[in-house]
Amino acid sequence: MSLMQNEVYDITIVGAGPAGLFAGFYAGMRTAKTQIIESLDQVGGQVTTLYPEKTIYDVGGYAGIKGIDFISSLEKQVRLVDVEIKLSETVIDIFPEGDFYRIKTTEGETRTKAVILATGNGAFNPRRLAIDGLETIENKHLFYTLPKIETLVGKEVAVAGGGDSAIDIALMLEGVAKSVTIIHRRNEFRGMEHSVNQLLDSNVKVLTPYLINSVEKNHGQLSVGLKKVGEEVVEQYQYDDLIVNYGFISSNKVIKNWSLDVDQEHRMFVVNSLMQTNLKNVYAIGDGIEYDGKLRLIATAFGEGPMAVSQIMKALYPDKKGPLHSTAMFK
Ligand SMILES: Cc1cc2nc3c(=O)[nH]c(=O)nc-3n(C[C@H](O)[C@H](O)[C@H](O)COP(=O)(O)OP(=O)(O)OC[C@H]3O[C@@H](n4cnc5c(N)ncnc54)[C@H](O)[C@@H]3O)c2cc1C
Repeated sequence: MSLMQNEVYDITIVGAGPAGLFAGFYAGMRTAKTQIIESLDQVGGQVTTLYPEKTIYDVGGYAGIKGIDFISSLEKQVRLVDVEIKLSETVIDIFPEGDFYRIKTTEGETRTKAVILATGNGAFNPRRLAIDGLETIENKHLFYTLPKIETLVGKEVAVAGGGDSAIDIALMLEGVAKSVTIIHRRNEFRGMEHSVNQLLDSNVKVLTPYLINSVEKNHGQLSVGLKKVGEEVVEQYQYDDLIVNYGFISSNKVIKNWSLDVDQEHRMFVVNSLMQTNLKNVYAIGDGIEYDGKLRLIATAFGEGPMAVSQIMKALYPDKKGPLHSTAMFK
């Protein structure tokens, strides 16, 4: 048995979207030994992957906040407490083992006393470039999610994609990066009209209709081979970084294969008013659950997390006092 298998957590949270992150904070605040496991290389779930540049207005306490800033604030909050966040790791199976659950991931195995499923629509994975051998430059020069903005200052950056998110990223980098180019396989962009107009009025260089044919690292830069649609000639362009935004595939396929026999309705976990599934110490919160009157909103998920954590703490540590007010916790 590996060291990792000996590791026993009180609570394992599957998914680091808004629901999982806030539940993680709350679990940490209640001093539960907690891990959050996320298949993507970034926290934030749908907010980070689908609308980082959009403004959210209906989360209590914010009269409008950009998705990316909202997630950054949530991440700061969870870092106030002692919780392990494991990124780029997918939970591929969960099975009961006596009083514990064994969590099998793409990286190894751990054990846990309780589970909170915060899986949203399933594990997110970016649509990748169909070119072999790019692993060595992934997350260094080639990105499928927006890296930290500071790392792009003064760089020559290319963004590939034609939807709203690709346009948002290109516009956001204008004035941050040394130069920004957007590459799209069609002449028409799929983004909203006003975003497309903003793009065409900006200093972002537009390369259409081009397909990415090759990507190679050359003298510290990326040499990107672009083929004009309908033509055979490959033109070479040099960039420091390439952000590919071809969208994300969210899949419940992995979850469907879990050994865990959790009640589901229309691929959603069925929970009661305490966020409990049909299995002992297995709870579910956020977009991936179903109960009468469920709203798929961040505000709702923020209530469900503390509910699940409190129930788990009551079951695992009946003598522990709580829930405490956070005002008594931090100086
Ligand atoms: C365009 C758009 C705009 C929106 N605007 C608003 C808004 O204004 N206000 C609002 O309240 N809501 C809004 N929403 C909805 C909101 O984003 C969701 O309600 C919220 O993201 C749900 O959070 P979650 O944590 O439950 O799920 P998600 O955000 O979907 O996160 C789930 C996470 O779990 C991970 N995961 C799943 N399975 C596994 C696994 N097996 N192993 C490891 N990780 C796994 C996924 O990769 C993902 O990161 C919007 C949604 C969209 C698409």
